[in-house]
Amino acid sequence: MESENNPNYVGLIFLGIIKYLFASFFIFILLMLMNNNPGSGGSYRNMRKSCFSNIRLLNGAVEMYNMDNSAKINELNNSTIKILIDNKYLKKKLYCFDLPENEYKSKGDISKDGFIFCELHGNLDQSYKGKNSEEDDQKLFIEAKAKAKNEKMHNCFIFSFKIGLIVFILELIRIFSMTK
Ligand SMILES: [Zn+2]
Repeated sequence: MESENNPNYVGLIFLGIIKYLFASFFIFILLMLMNNNPGSGGSYRNMRKSCFSNIRLLNGAVEMYNMDNSAKINELNNSTIKILIDNKYLKKKLYCFDLPENEYKSKGDISKDGFIFCELHGNLDQSYKGKNSEEDDQKLFIEAKAKAKNEKMHNCFIFSFKIGLIVFILELIRIFSMTK
């Protein structure tokens, strides 16, 4: 019989493809399980919290500076921030969520009853509200979380596809070496 000497390539390659799909799927599932930290959403979870801690740092720096110096800082702007940094009351210029467009500003005389605020989150006691409500922050967090999860799935998928491809190529080599 002819078929005993000539392996059924179509069948074997089909089997190879099945093995490939199975290997890829298995590795994908394994990767997803191993790395089951759901998309964290980065620091969006604590966006408002870290914003307020920045404001507290700025308040503290201004307060300390004003205690030590007779020429008080009355408002927050680039030149007063530079004074705070140059005199080591502040390490660096702070931005809400590290985004340069989110500068901190001040309203009123901050050596007296003025306050420092963020356009997005307002001031500490919320007598001045920012543009973002807590729901907006929550929405940003959920979006970032979903995005991180998608990226993770995508990366796992690409990786398992590559591993599966290696399995498939090895299988092809095995099939064609059977003829010799
Ligand atoms: Zn903020």
